Amino acid sequence: MNAKNERYDLLKGLFQERRFFKLVCGAGNENLTEVRRLAAIYTIAGAAMHDLSANIDVVEAAKRGVEEAYALAPLLGKKIAMRPYLNVSIGLKGDPHVRKALIDRGACVECGECIKACRQEAISEGYSVEEFKCIGCGDCESVCPAGAIRYIHKRADFENILPECAKRGVETMELHGVTDDDEAVLHDWKLLNTIITDNFLSVCLDRSLLSNRHLIDRIRQLHEVTGERMIVQADGVPMSGEGDDYNTTLQAVACADVVMKSGIPVVVLLSGGTNSRTGLLARQCGVNAHGVSVGSFARKLVKRYVTMEDFDTNIDALSEAVSVAEELVRANLEAIGG
Ligand code: SF4
Ligand code: SF4
Repeated sequence: MNAKNERYDLLKGLFQERRFFKLVCGAGNENLTEVRRLAAIYTIAGAAMHDLSANIDVVEAAKRGVEEAYALAPLLGKKIAMRPYLNVSIGLKGDPHVRKALIDRGACVECGECIKACRQEAISEGYSVEEFKCIGCGDCESVCPAGAIRYIHKRADFENILPECAKRGVETMELHGVTDDDEAVLHDWKLLNTIITDNFLSVCLDRSLLSNRHLIDRIRQLHEVTGERMIVQADGVPMSGEGDDYNTTLQAVACADVVMKSGIPVVVLLSGGTNSRTGLLARQCGVNAHGVSVGSFARKLVKRYVTMEDFDTNIDALSEAVSVAEELVRANLEAIGG
């Protein structure tokens, strides 16, 4: 058995034992400092995978974060249980995870509400969006009184970028398919399947545009391509998980329930509105998902550390950040692993 297959078996084992926690850095998050620091914190805290934008610089930043974690963990008295998998995400046109906000200056009334609402601090005082920070969450649009927020979607040269990501250590890939265009989803799924041939592929789906039946039909169609190597990241409400209560995470559990009840033999991850209550709610509802992916809430928990000017040299800040991250990982894994 070669090393690559061993990593596949290890990941499969984590799913079977329900010991899988994924940090979602953000499919559109190209803030290299933030990604590096998030990767360092959550590697020590026990995340099994880091989900990244399909961008070579972002992948390299995450790799640096993982290496920093190995160097710093002993100073915190910690031992890293496993080297996390790096996953890159791509998305189809219209999927909120991969869009970027753009302010229509002709319509903007310069009220400043979007600046206050933006969790990524991506909007400057001059009312322009710093693309590399924007994660497409839509919070700016929801507070804009003038309807001045537009979105752009740039389709990158994935045919070349994705193989390069794989060469640089990316082991799994994910397709964000919030669209009603089944053909487009299948096309990109097949593309990923030509690049990752011996490990899991993930599709992130929600029910914003699809009925339950359409969701299951799509999963069945994609499953015919990858078979058992398929993960369904069942998204409740994308990027909605900044709150830490049961209602915020309700749709994540509900979507996973729909997928699990289909009986299609895929790995199912809870996502989209996930927080520290997700694992517990899933368990109480009898939804035996194989893992938990946390993005917005995981990033928010450690944001005050990640944005510190001296974070890279401040071991106390790292220690505190790791403690709060560990608590999030532990709360979810204890609940789903039950
Ligand atoms: S609020 Fe969200 S979508 Fe708007 S600029 Fe900030 S990160 Fe981008
Ligand atoms: S919320 Fe809308 S109107 Fe107000 S500053 Fe932002 S883009 Fe302009």
